Amino acid sequence: MTTIAVIGLGTMGLGIVQTYAAAGFAVLATDAVAGARETALDRLRAGLAPRVQAGKMAQDDLDALLARITVVAGPEAMGRADLAIEAVVERIEVKRDLFAALERVVSPDAVLATNTSSLSVAAMAQGLSRPQRLLGLHFFNPAPVMKLVELVAHPHTGTEALDKARHLTEAAGKTVIPCPDRPGFIVNRCARPFYGEALALLEEGRSASQIDAAMLAAGYRLGPLGLIDLVGADINLAATESLAAAMDHHPRYHVFDALRRQVDRGDLGRKTGKGFLYPDQPGPAPKDAEDIVLRIEATLVNEAGWLLAEGGTTQQGIDTALKLGLNFPRGPFEILAAHGHERVLDQLAQLAAAAPAHLHGRYQPAPVLAG
Ligand code: NAD
Repeated sequence: MTTIAVIGLGTMGLGIVQTYAAAGFAVLATDAVAGARETALDRLRAGLAPRVQAGKMAQDDLDALLARITVVAGPEAMGRADLAIEAVVERIEVKRDLFAALERVVSPDAVLATNTSSLSVAAMAQGLSRPQRLLGLHFFNPAPVMKLVELVAHPHTGTEALDKARHLTEAAGKTVIPCPDRPGFIVNRCARPFYGEALALLEEGRSASQIDAAMLAAGYRLGPLGLIDLVGADINLAATESLAAAMDHHPRYHVFDALRRQVDRGDLGRKTGKGFLYPDQPGPAPKDAEDIVLRIEATLVNEAGWLLAEGGTTQQGIDTALKLGLNFPRGPFEILAAHGHERVLDQLAQLAAAAPAHLHGRYQPAPVLAG
């Protein structure tokens, strides 16, 4: 029987355990903290109980799912894993040590995967005796619900490992999108202008309500500022700063003061009771809603274009990733097809002309637009 191992039983790891166990795989699970190991099955049971009560899941199926999971003391007890996925703390030395321990026990053709959001998979592979079997499987939170998994290949990841990870993860019901080992992968990177351009508009004097209302009118389920309020301005700031640093502070990843001020004030969104908009809802869409949407969408297209130029992904892959990962109504290349190259280029040129000097390079068109 195919066995999946999961190390780290926090938010993501427990969700990953559930995902593969629900699909019928045998799962070995562990965590460095005894309490996390001891409570893992109870936490899963408690999380799924409402589904049973609502009649959406049979009690027998829940029992069978849990019976497929074996909690073990540590990675040394995971020798029969075909695929081992780590979801431990986001520190490269911890992840490297863990993979070294796994390599000592698993079979030569077992695949090792990291769920990292922000670390380089290539850097993590350094020092492994078989770096070709390491790859990224980037799940989204909550893992059992979110369909998307980004499959990250570093330059030496082998095809066999990629095929195996893809096959097993698709068998667990996920849509697996290949992507390069670049900062933010697809979703966390291509999402930056959605927030960034909204923050620029805010700094230029537009209200959060008008900006979000414009995007809602264009079919987005949540506006950019409402989304920051939902996730937390502190989380958004950390993700933006991390990407800005990884991309040498290119102006496309500019960290807007409006976001920093929000965090300094402690107005982080839902979790503190006050955000850019929260607890209010967006009002009616302004008369120039289409201009707001075109501005944000043109920069979304451009960022996707720059990622595409770096290789390792496709237009369709990027579109699917943003629709599944962010609930966008359409992907950047579908937006490009709808607006046309000329309109997007014209919008970027207008934004560049109006931008302050330090943001001028933000709107330089990607090769896919210029060509
Ligand atoms: P978490 O803090 O909820 O859980 C981490 C778990 O790992 C804890 O239970 C901890 O005890 C355990 N742990 C730490 N070091 C360990 C070790 N050496 N061996 C075994 N267990 C260890 O964290 P999380 O939010 O689940 O994130 C885990 C990973 O997933 C991180 O790399 C993060 O970047 C990534 N990720 C998080 C999200 C998210 O939305 N939370 C989304 C995608 C990816």
